[in-house]
Amino acid sequence: MLANGTVSPVSVAKSNIIDGAALADSVKTDVSSRVAALKARGITPGLTVVLVGDDAASAVYVGSKERTCIELGMNGETIRRPANITQAELIEIVDRLNADPAVHGILVQMPLPKHLDSDAVVRRIRPDKDVDGFHPVNVGKLLIGERDGFAPCTPAGVLYMLQAHGVQTAGAHCVVIGRSNIVGKPMAALMVQPGVDSTVTICHSRTRDLARHTRDADILIAAVGRAEMVTRDMVKAGAVVIDVGMNRIPDATKKSGTRLVGDVAFGPVSEVASLITPVPGGVGKMTIAMLMTNTVRAAEQLSS
Ligand code: NDP
Repeated sequence: MLANGTVSPVSVAKSNIIDGAALADSVKTDVSSRVAALKARGITPGLTVVLVGDDAASAVYVGSKERTCIELGMNGETIRRPANITQAELIEIVDRLNADPAVHGILVQMPLPKHLDSDAVVRRIRPDKDVDGFHPVNVGKLLIGERDGFAPCTPAGVLYMLQAHGVQTAGAHCVVIGRSNIVGKPMAALMVQPGVDSTVTICHSRTRDLARHTRDADILIAAVGRAEMVTRDMVKAGAVVIDVGMNRIPDATKKSGTRLVGDVAFGPVSEVASLITPVPGGVGKMTIAMLMTNTVRAAEQLSS
């Protein structure tokens, strides 16, 4: 279906919608049993998140990370500091967490206030506790295929979704729209690694004739941040479409006055895609689940 491009148009069926919540639950069930095994050895996996400032969206993300840790039997702690914290104070917190044997995963919630050097903070986290997978050591391990590193949670969640649905990645043409360090580039690196074996094209804002590339995709992954920019005419019949985008657009019918949409025009594209993720309820659900996986694996590796 994927590799040779000979599929006929797929009729719309509920079953072509990937259920991110159900997949996230299956990941969490696996994490719970690994947590139980560690606890039997006297080890409780622990994730500490550092939240600087009072960005509302960041506070929501951090709250759900902490809650999910606790739900799965892990320690989940959040260190909250005001926006005027100094670089030295923040580095001191990271150093303390690096040295704390009860902390297996460290995550500094981004974005940080402008006066702070995010790159220096990320580089200060011990790579073996960097469960976000942003430290250059983990970025390098992902590229060279060393399995003891940590891949960033969102791309790792997308790959899990594809594999859980039995999507044939080997030989498939995977087109990734977006080249950020947190989604696009690591996504491409995962898809091309041996064992996944896709042929990967990375597109970005300077790509000429984007639709020419996307129309050739067996697997199309959109990570742009532009509401519903991927339209039906940009997608090949039978393609698998993964929508990473999260965009708030005005919607007078909602109490909040807004609603969340992805980078893909879901309704029309779902008529031609063989599989598609919705927004919300798709990739977003997987991100925290993969963070939990990375944290339990950090605890396993640090205690082995
Ligand atoms: P960035 O803004 O860092 O990157 C966006 C990328 O899209 C850039 O590489 C940019 O190109 C490219 N781009 C912008 N406009 C176009 C265009 N017209 N055509 C082709 N490419 C374009 O965003 P992120 O990678 O951080 O996030 C992408 C989206 O994913 C956002 O909506 C974000 O909210 C969402 N997201 C969702 C997560 C989840 O858990 N579901 C987690 C993380 C992000 P260039 O490099 O040339 O500027």
